[in-house]
Amino acid sequence: MQELSHFINGARVPGTSGRFADVFNPATGEVQARVPLAGRDEMDSAIAAAAEAQVKWGATNPQRRARVMMNVVALLNRDMDKLAEALSREHGKTLPDAKGDVQRGLEVIEFCIGAPHLLKGEYTDGAGPGIDMYSMRQALGVVAGITPFNFPAMIPLWKMGPALACGNAFILKPSERAPSVPLMLAEIFKEAGLPDGVLQVVNGDKDAVDSILENETVQAVGFVGSTPIAQYIYAKGCENGKRVQCFGGAKNHMIVMPDADMDQAANALVGAGYGAAGERCMAISVAVPVGEETADRLIEALVPRIEKLKVGPYTAGDDIDYGPVVTAAAKQNIHRLVQSGIDAGAELVVDGRDFSLQGYEDGFFVGPHLFDRVTPDMEIYRKEIFGPVLSTVRAGSYEEALGLAMDHEYGNGTAIFTRDGDAARDFASRINIGMVGINVPIPVPLAYHTFGGWKKSGFGDLNQHGPDSFRFYTRTKTVTARWPSGIKDGGEFNFKAMD
Ligand code: NAD
Repeated sequence: MQELSHFINGARVPGTSGRFADVFNPATGEVQARVPLAGRDEMDSAIAAAAEAQVKWGATNPQRRARVMMNVVALLNRDMDKLAEALSREHGKTLPDAKGDVQRGLEVIEFCIGAPHLLKGEYTDGAGPGIDMYSMRQALGVVAGITPFNFPAMIPLWKMGPALACGNAFILKPSERAPSVPLMLAEIFKEAGLPDGVLQVVNGDKDAVDSILENETVQAVGFVGSTPIAQYIYAKGCENGKRVQCFGGAKNHMIVMPDADMDQAANALVGAGYGAAGERCMAISVAVPVGEETADRLIEALVPRIEKLKVGPYTAGDDIDYGPVVTAAAKQNIHRLVQSGIDAGAELVVDGRDFSLQGYEDGFFVGPHLFDRVTPDMEIYRKEIFGPVLSTVRAGSYEEALGLAMDHEYGNGTAIFTRDGDAARDFASRINIGMVGINVPIPVPLAYHTFGGWKKSGFGDLNQHGPDSFRFYTRTKTVTARWPSGIKDGGEFNFKAMD
């Protein structure tokens, strides 16, 4: 069995704590590798080495740092297939989806090539008599990122790209469930010219995370994962005086208005609800048709599409719609929640409970489920299921549909499907959710905008990637300068003879 490592000071190094976690191939259910779980000593020494390496990297001019990012883009493109295969093997998502995972991270590295421009400060000429004022953005020093299993390439790249382009050293603590791609990314950055020690990948679990949160050298922590852990890290990081941004779970609603193009809405819902087995923080997990007739038409359009979904391993080819979920525990949790929906009286219109794939009986596959007549008090409505389970909540009016999404504790993404510009505009303006799609089911902003949810989906005041990421990974220093009058006053104009 393969034994994975950390990546410290420019090389793969074995773990020394003696603790490991199993890494599964979710399609077969087999343990394919084990990953070391760092202890405090390993984390502290990786951070100390990063602090030393950061001094020179932070003093490297931003254009040179940007050139490393240019090389990273080229190498990510070169290694796209290799990265996608490693990603699918540990995560289970299809190969085209795995390439999308790498691609959406790569685009943030492309954005980071603009570092010289993004790091330009502000200047006021003549703020007072003989006084100028200027602000500069400086690196924080050593910063850290703690990332989830579901985007093993994209989210680490969202964090390491801007942090490094700003001149910081970066400690990545990836998910212990999908650690191979982050290690490959570290090798790519090294090949691209990043000095050793500036990017350290330290694998681990809660111990490693707590070591980051308690280490005084670490200036900022960016987290993506489930909401309870986001809240824990936000509270603990802030208590220890760090700058912290934490992005959590989601329950994304898609409102379907009576005038929506029903084929378009149903196609969008199937892709956004079941793609990546529903293991996306921007997955649509709640469909909200407005009016009974809309609801009936929507269910009628959805059922045949869902029944046709092809579920299988990534190795079965590109026409697979989605793969297994990440672990046996995730599968059990989804089945438990489905049962709670049935017990609470929701109508299970498509039942995926008996799904089984010949030859892959031990894989963590979950068949697609569709619930109708879900109500807001049900556990399947309140909780993030993170699986291929779509719930339908019938709303009597637009206001009721809007209110449902507004009242939910999560606020990551949402969408409205309609032909009515006024309804769409009203929705985008009033909704208390961070990312909104209008006839777009998964409105993930592009690299040069920012990504972040509201309410219990996001903690902290700056979003990921885009201009916010350059603000998060730098601090502002403002200089007020006055120079005393120089030789232009009282200068000597006569040619003097030497005494
Ligand atoms: P998770 O919270 O279990 O793990 C995320 C990270 O936290 C991992 O690196 C893990 O090792 C660490 N961690 C886990 N338990 C910990 C503990 N007790 N103390 C300290 N650290 C701990 O999340 P996951 O299952 O890997 O990812 C799925 C979740 O992430 C979903 O809730 C999903 O919605 C969310 N997510 C959110 C976004 C977003 O941008 N809002 C993006 C992707 C995923």
